[in-house]
Amino acid sequence: MTIFTSAEKVETLVIGGGQAGIAASAHLGKAGMPHLVVERGRIAERWRTERWDSLVANGPAWHDRFPEKLFVATGPDGFAPAAEIVDYLCGYAEQVRAPIRTGVEVAALRHEGGAFIAQTNRGSIEARRVIVATGPFQKPLIPAVVPETPELTQIHSAHYRNPSQLPEGAVLVIGAGSSGVQIADEILRAGRHVYLAVGAHHRPARRYRGRDFVWWLGALGLWDAKALAPNMAHVTIAVSGARGGHTVDFRNLAASGMTLLGRAENFENGVLRFAPDLAQKIAEGDANYLAMLDAADAFIAREGLDFPPEPEAHELGKLPSCVTNPILTLNLAEAGITSIIWATGYALDFGWIRLDAFDAQGKPIHERGVSNVPGLYFLGLSWLSRRASAFIWGVWHDAAYIAEHIAASEGQHDS
Ligand SMILES: Cc1cc2nc3c(=O)[nH]c(=O)nc-3n(C[C@H](O)[C@H](O)[C@H](O)COP(=O)(O)OP(=O)(O)OC[C@H]3O[C@@H](n4cnc5c(N)ncnc54)[C@H](O)[C@@H]3O)c2cc1C
Repeated sequence: MTIFTSAEKVETLVIGGGQAGIAASAHLGKAGMPHLVVERGRIAERWRTERWDSLVANGPAWHDRFPEKLFVATGPDGFAPAAEIVDYLCGYAEQVRAPIRTGVEVAALRHEGGAFIAQTNRGSIEARRVIVATGPFQKPLIPAVVPETPELTQIHSAHYRNPSQLPEGAVLVIGAGSSGVQIADEILRAGRHVYLAVGAHHRPARRYRGRDFVWWLGALGLWDAKALAPNMAHVTIAVSGARGGHTVDFRNLAASGMTLLGRAENFENGVLRFAPDLAQKIAEGDANYLAMLDAADAFIAREGLDFPPEPEAHELGKLPSCVTNPILTLNLAEAGITSIIWATGYALDFGWIRLDAFDAQGKPIHERGVSNVPGLYFLGLSWLSRRASAFIWGVWHDAAYIAEHIAASEGQHDS
């Protein structure tokens, strides 16, 4: 192990060797700007160790990629497995000769004497500029609802791998976004009884009139949305690339034997209580699904496109009894539930950055990734510049903007 006695000096330090860090390196390298990427694990570590075994990309391979590199094993309309995403990111890092140093964790970042000082497990690094690319999904969040007991295994979706890791018995999955729905479906298919707690969600059609959902997001200008519409709360999106990609439909999941529940609210004496608005949440999800079909139809008509009609996509089946007559309380032991998987999202965790760069909620203060602290940048965060920002292809474009910003500020510096 190298131990640095005095700080190593770099022009630009990129922290994080996931897709964001690699994209930053690609653009800095292209502009001839010296830099170093440090990654605490391996390249694309989160795609290796914080995703379940069967995970595939949510978008088709023609879309979920960097503009300069295609997926090879997965065809353009397929959904790349996580292992192939790792190979893809490593391959791109090699292609752009990204100077990535793995096994280097930044424990603290501060500004001192006109430079940033990153304190790492391998000594200190001094940098004129820093790009923080440590991910949009940093710290798994489990709401404090069910106390820990030996009889009940509780894990976050980030730590779920496959059904065989769970003790015998029924499984309760809490959260019905893309992770929760896919994990619940996989466990059900493994022959377990699965309960799924469903809150507010969107569930767009995977494909409609011959085009994938991601294509429609582009056509309808939604990838470029700068922020959520005013008065619109963040709502989790349930989409799946599993088994070739399919529309998430809670009716089908219930028909396959899954028991749908409302949002988990509180727990007392072994009994979990659920919100009584499951039918309303399902109706809102349906309304979102139908609104997207209507928007797509209007686009096709406006543009005079010859896309095949798909009237059956507008037909919604009968609601299952678990929705019309919902379970409001469940004694977990009596229901045979031995594990809970919390697919309840993530929080940011920037406690290690000792700079005045955050708002009262701990979120970075920035404009398209350019922080209020001169020389500090953030990349890869959700909605950094637009809806696409946390996705593989979106981060590549945000990285280009940051590299341009650095080059421009360098020009000002020189003149
Ligand atoms: C379940 C799931 C499925 C997803 N599916 C898709 C998809 O199909 N398509 C898509 O486009 N997006 C998808 N995303 C969103 C997004 O692409 C991923 O979250 C992606 O991993 C984000 O890349 P990133 O480089 O910004 O962050 P990360 O992949 O989180 O990379 C950040 C890196 O920084 C390192 N790091 C963190 N802290 C430090 C530190 N202090 N010092 C040094 N290194 C550090 C980490 O080890 C990590 O490797 C998915 C997200 C999740 C959670």
